[in-house]
Amino acid sequence: MKTTLPVYRPLLPPVQSILPYLAQLDSRRVYTNRGPLAEQLEARLAVLLAGRADTLVTAASGTAALQAAILAHAGRPRGRRTLALIPGYTFVATAFAAMAAGYEPLFCDLAPGSWRLRPDDLPPDLPTSRLGLVLPVAPFGEMPLQRDWSAFQARTGIKVVIDAAASFEALLAAPGEAVGAVPVALSFHATKSFSTGEGGAVLWADRDGLVRAAQAMNFGMVYTRESRAAGFNGKLSEYHAAIGLAWLDGLDRRIAARRRVAARYRKAAAAHGLAERLLLPPAIASCYALFRADSGADAAAASESLARAGIETRRWYGLGVQAEAYFRARGAAPLPETERLAARIIGLPVAEDIAASDIARILRALAARGAQ
Ligand SMILES: *Cc1c(COP(=O)(O)O)cnc(C)c1O
Repeated sequence: MKTTLPVYRPLLPPVQSILPYLAQLDSRRVYTNRGPLAEQLEARLAVLLAGRADTLVTAASGTAALQAAILAHAGRPRGRRTLALIPGYTFVATAFAAMAAGYEPLFCDLAPGSWRLRPDDLPPDLPTSRLGLVLPVAPFGEMPLQRDWSAFQARTGIKVVIDAAASFEALLAAPGEAVGAVPVALSFHATKSFSTGEGGAVLWADRDGLVRAAQAMNFGMVYTRESRAAGFNGKLSEYHAAIGLAWLDGLDRRIAARRRVAARYRKAAAAHGLAERLLLPPAIASCYALFRADSGADAAAASESLARAGIETRRWYGLGVQAEAYFRARGAAPLPETERLAARIIGLPVAEDIAASDIARILRALAARGAQ
C-alpha cells in the first residue's frame, strides 16, 4: 500500500516569521562567518540550554559540531592513539565525524538491557592504550551523561566528546546540567526537535575550548587570517541562524504542541494496552515516538502491519553503524547486543501537527500486528 503517513514530517518556522531577520541582511551584507544573527542565536541558546553566556558555538550541522569538538578537545590522533571508541547504536554521523578528524572508529557493543554506553559498562578487553577518543551517544535525545563521562575523562586522561545530537529538549528542561569538561554536540537538522534547517552547536564549559572549536570550523583561523590549527568549513550561515531565531520566538507554543502529541500517543497506547511498549517524550526527544517490541520478529510484524496500513516506520539507527555496508566492508565486527536491541526498536510517525486520528490508526495497526 502507498505510504500515507511518513515517519517524520518536519515543521520549520513559517517564512513570514523568518523574514524580519532576513531583512537585516540586505543592508548589512554579512551572510556568514559567525555574523550578528549567528551570535544572537548563540547567546539565546546559551542562556536557554546552559543558563549562562559563553557556553556554546553554532555549527553548520551536528556532524560539523562533533568534528569541531573532537579537533578542539582531542586534536588529530597522535602516536598510537588512533582509535575512537563509538557505540554501534547511533547514527552513522558519529563515526564519520571521528573519521574526518583522523580517527579510526572502534565500535563497542552495549551492555545487555542498556541502549547507551556508560563508563562502568565498558568491555574489559578494550585496547585502552590505543584509544585517542571516546564518543558516547545520548540516544534519541536523552540527557547526555556529563558527570559520568567527565569523571571517566579525568580518571583515564582519554578525551571524551558526547554526541547529544537530538538532546535539545533534555538540555532545555535542565539548563546547565549538560555543561562540563566534556564537550557536547547538538544537531539542528530539520528532523530534530529544534532546527535551523541544517545546523548544530557545541556546548562546553571550556571557553578557550569553544574558541578552538570555532577556529576548527573556520579553517583553523581565529583573530587572524592565518591557519594555525586543523580545520574545515563548519560555520552556520546567517540564513540558517535566522530560522533558529524565528524558531525560538515560537518556542513555548511549539513545546506545548509537542506535549499534546505525546499525551495523545500515551492515551491511544493505553487504550490498546501498549503503554509500556511506547517510548515518548519527555524520556526522549519529541521528534521520536518509538515502539519497543519483544523481539526482532515482533518488531518486524509491527512494521509489516503498519506498512499494510500505509504507515511508514524507521529504524533510526539501522542495526547499528557497524552493520552498515560501508563499515562492514572496512572490517567492523558484528555487535550482538546492539543488533538485538536495534531490531526491536522501531520509529513510529510523529510530527508536531500529527492528527489524533492518525495516532489512533497507528495504534490500531500496532495492536493488530501478527494478526495476519
Ligand atoms: C542527527 C544526528 C546526527 C547528525 O546531525 P546532522 O545535523 O545531520 O549532521 C549525529 N548523531 C546523531 C545521534 C543524530 O541523531
